Amino acid sequence: MIRLLSGKQLVMVEGFTFHSTDAHFIKLMNGTVLFMAHDYSYHKIAGVKYCGGIRWQCSSRKKSKCNAFAVLSEDQETVYRISGFHNHEPPVYMEMAPGQYMKI
Ligand SMILES: [Zn+2]
Repeated sequence: MIRLLSGKQLVMVEGFTFHSTDAHFIKLMNGTVLFMAHDYSYHKIAGVKYCGGIRWQCSSRKKSKCNAFAVLSEDQETVYRISGFHNHEPPVYMEMAPGQYMKI
């Protein structure tokens, strides 16, 4: 269940494993950092702790009232869990400049 994101290790989420390369962070043009996993993006809710980690809410929560969320360790190296089902299509991000993404 708990594995580092760096390297080729596997992350186990809700009983399923996926390659750590599937989970990563992107930075938007406005400076917001999003956690990406399985094509969906999550943003950090400042200071919201959950199950010993920090809760990251689906970034489409406002628009789609999606309740899915991820829980990452405070150092953001470990994915503890990803919960809920997304009620919308995965968002699409385009790299506008090196390391800077925009939702399209
Ligand atoms: Zn969602």
